[in-house]
Amino acid sequence: MRVGQATYNGASFLAVSSGDDAILPALSDYWDRRFSTCQSIIEAGSDVWRRLAEFCVAAPPECRVPMRNLRLGAPIPRPHKNIICLGWNYADHAQESAQATGKKVEVPEHPVIFTKAVTALTGPVDDIEVDSAVTTQLDWEVELGVVIGARIKSVDEQAALDSVFGYTVINDTSARDLQFRHKQFFVGKSLDRASPMGPWIVTADEIGDPQQLELRSWVNETLKQSSSTRHQIFSVAKVISVLSQVMTLEPGDIIATGTPSGVGFARTPPEFLTPGDVVECEIERIGRLRNRIVAARSR
Ligand code: ZN
Repeated sequence: MRVGQATYNGASFLAVSSGDDAILPALSDYWDRRFSTCQSIIEAGSDVWRRLAEFCVAAPPECRVPMRNLRLGAPIPRPHKNIICLGWNYADHAQESAQATGKKVEVPEHPVIFTKAVTALTGPVDDIEVDSAVTTQLDWEVELGVVIGARIKSVDEQAALDSVFGYTVINDTSARDLQFRHKQFFVGKSLDRASPMGPWIVTADEIGDPQQLELRSWVNETLKQSSSTRHQIFSVAKVISVLSQVMTLEPGDIIATGTPSGVGFARTPPEFLTPGDVVECEIERIGRLRNRIVAARSR
């Protein structure tokens, strides 16, 4: 299943992709309205996931809406906790970052983990407003997003993927001037509505091995990043296992698993996103984010 959150006729609906259409279960009287968001479905557990899949197989015609008539938002627009992010999880990106900042190249021995504020998320086709008084160095990072589907603590690597609800695409946009000025990732990664997520969460059963996915990004149709999740230093299973030793992971928690090389600040000369640019991030079998950068309206 490919599940998302869509605006249709001014209201927000749980949406399931079905070819050129989306199925909006809540348009039918037969659907339990308690389950009207991705978050509620994920929390409800596998019985409800199965019920949703069965409902979509024989969806009543009133639930079927052409994709062109709706607008997808972030599948989980307001997560319960910060998005958990991995730093330097691809060796080539660790290398380009070290070179760009004049440091020694070190591939991490343990996952480098930070977070992004929940208010940073935005939809897969939304404009990204950038205030040049806040940052002039907004950068792109295509990443595989993992959405947790169970409440777990201390899982080992072998069992870790059983706790995944699905996978999505995240552009972990990063204000490099803020990141370097404040000596820490959090502020530079947390600009309001600047980190696109979506277009769908594709359920884990449809993806299978998360370490075999091609991921790419473009700025103004020029390819900037092209890699595969098989190059991750710490696998999705490893990251979940490491996190779960420390904290309880819960349904709807999101992990952005790091970006490969090709980001803007490490280029010669450095490149950053400016108003008018269009940034796209794609992961095979999940989908593509396409967002235009616009200047923030003056305050
Ligand atoms: Zn990142």
